[in-house]
Amino acid sequence: MTTKTASSTAMPTLSEPHPTLHIYNTLSKKKEPFRTVEAGKVGIYLCGPTVYDKAHIGHMVGPVIFDCIKRFLVYCGYDVNWVVNITDVDDKLINKANERGMTMLEVAEENIADYNDNLAALGVDQVDHFPRATDCMDEIISFIASLVDQEFAYESEGDVYFEVGKDTGYGKLSNRTVDAMQGEGGGMAQRKRGLADFALWKSAKPDEPSWESPWGQGRPGWHIECSAMSKKLLGETFDIHGGGLDLVFPHHENEIAQSECCHTQPMVTYWAHNGLLRASNAAGKLGGRTERANESPSDSLGESPLQRAGTPTQAEK
Ligand SMILES: [Zn+2]
Repeated sequence: MTTKTASSTAMPTLSEPHPTLHIYNTLSKKKEPFRTVEAGKVGIYLCGPTVYDKAHIGHMVGPVIFDCIKRFLVYCGYDVNWVVNITDVDDKLINKANERGMTMLEVAEENIADYNDNLAALGVDQVDHFPRATDCMDEIISFIASLVDQEFAYESEGDVYFEVGKDTGYGKLSNRTVDAMQGEGGGMAQRKRGLADFALWKSAKPDEPSWESPWGQGRPGWHIECSAMSKKLLGETFDIHGGGLDLVFPHHENEIAQSECCHTQPMVTYWAHNGLLRASNAAGKLGGRTERANESPSDSLGESPLQRAGTPTQAEK
């Protein structure tokens, strides 16, 4: 049986620390001196939106914060490469396309334009790459194939799952044990070896957009997109991975598992998470994600996209 973990693998030699700059790392739960994989360069990956609907103000929190971080790092003399991915294939996009009688691509294009308008209105203009999942299908499929070859993933009835029990380091970001986790239940549960296993590839249902793969027609799961896109644009180990706090588990935990089992080296030096926006409702009461979870995008605060307030982060999936 193959088991390995990145904790048993060597970290690439990092640059000399910046003389004054420190960064809080969710992985170590400590503020650490800032050192980069390549001297003078910084790679940043921020999980971006799933573009099934108009952007709301919660989607803008991460971009505004990381725009400031990039500007500061550039001011410090670093050459910074910042990537924000776009998830343009997903159940919610497929449902929205069916509801509106449009193609998934049309729904995505419309909402990407809206997202970009919002970024521009806020002066967020430092992003270097906006890779789209549907443009990276070859990289996603070969990433999954590598995990299958190394026996960290298995095919089951046209789906492919990551076998969480094979990664002895699983849970290190969110401090969870495999036993404490719930996997995706429903119909998928019968196809999985362990409840915590998660889908890397989903077999196509009739009339769904799908791509050819070694496991038949299908589409990728959400977590694998980020592992494949960050590798493509920033390499196997890069400097800063960002996102809202609500992405720590399961999304970032699963990204680490996929990338570190695949490459046998740390995915990221610093995991940097931003807090969640709390917006007040009509009664002036502050609400977090749970309290506002029942609102639809039509519960917006006004006509301007920047005034829309729904659930509070870019993580609404
Ligand atoms: Zn992500």
